[in-house]
Amino acid sequence: MALFEKMNLNDSTPENKDIKDVENVKVLVIGSGPAGYTAAIYAARANLNPVLYEGLQPGGQLTTTTDVENFPGYPSGITGPEMMEDLKKQAERFGTDIRFGLATKSDLSQRPFRITIDDTKIIEAESLIIATGATAKYLGLEDEAKYAGSGVSACATCDGFFYRGRDIAVVGGGDTACEEALYLAGLAKKVYMIVRRNVLRASKVMQDRVFSAENIEVLWEHQTKGLFGDGVVEGAVLVKKKGTTEEEEVKINIDGFFLAIGHKPNSDIFKPYIDTDEVGYIRTQCGSSKTNVAGVFACGDVQDSTYRQAVTAAGSGCMAAIDAERWLAEN
Ligand code: NDP
Repeated sequence: MALFEKMNLNDSTPENKDIKDVENVKVLVIGSGPAGYTAAIYAARANLNPVLYEGLQPGGQLTTTTDVENFPGYPSGITGPEMMEDLKKQAERFGTDIRFGLATKSDLSQRPFRITIDDTKIIEAESLIIATGATAKYLGLEDEAKYAGSGVSACATCDGFFYRGRDIAVVGGGDTACEEALYLAGLAKKVYMIVRRNVLRASKVMQDRVFSAENIEVLWEHQTKGLFGDGVVEGAVLVKKKGTTEEEEVKINIDGFFLAIGHKPNSDIFKPYIDTDEVGYIRTQCGSSKTNVAGVFACGDVQDSTYRQAVTAAGSGCMAAIDAERWLAEN
């Protein structure tokens, strides 16, 4: 898209012209997961006085998980919310200005970059670190919220360990679902894959691995109606061949219900300017956090469709702050 077209998309809108509250900052971090807080810690220690906006879900995806046992440095584990609180305190300790608010628009066509917050304030940023994360997709059942952290999870690597020797289900038929099912099959007694069609979307190699795993059973043409259990998940009610004459209700007893129906990277407001892949993951230059726009850096899950771990997000947050610091020094 040509630059003049991009410029038309944002700041010329009447609502932005009307915003009087404009503030200039050296480093703006958007997002408060491990990537955003780590970027803020590094930027603050480099005397760049970062301002961080927390977004819709302060603390990010980790606040929806229970125990985190795979983040180095916590030999006894730590809860997700506690870890995020620690990261926040650490970022504040070095002077990060952490604010509640949601970035609603961006104009990255010129510097300073202009980011609209809650449609009421504009931050003019000399450099921008995008750490807006990704959101796991859920089916939209009330029971998913009811049993969140009590048997419902969207991250096998994070929570699979708690289901050792148990029976669990993974929803989805893509590469992520296969990968999660295979990972969980190494821990659990039995893994059901709940697949809504009669084929898997996943690559052939992943399908073959699933089919040859002894303790994975694919439930073809099944959809989830609800979950049951006394305080924790004890089972799921499924509908087989929904909408056909052969439709029937099926109950399975499970202790864990894992969603693997895709993630949505939170990159929409930057898309007119920032290159993403077809799913929306921001493309960064190999071995760095640099995006296609000089002075704009991306870290964490918004640019990572592969690893999606707290520790890799934190590592990339560090990279983004160092990249921003060097870029500011040079410009
Ligand atoms: P995909 O979009 O590829 O697959 C999503 C799966 O979830 C599909 O089987 C889809 O069913 C199912 N699904 C979606 N919505 C619902 C719903 N409401 N109810 C039931 N099932 C539903 O997402 P992935 O996260 O698996 O993969 C994303 C991208 O990342 C892909 O390009 C994938 O190849 C890639 N990837 C690669 C990996 C690797 O190479 N190791 C590992 C993980 C991901 P349906 O098929 O019927 O639409």
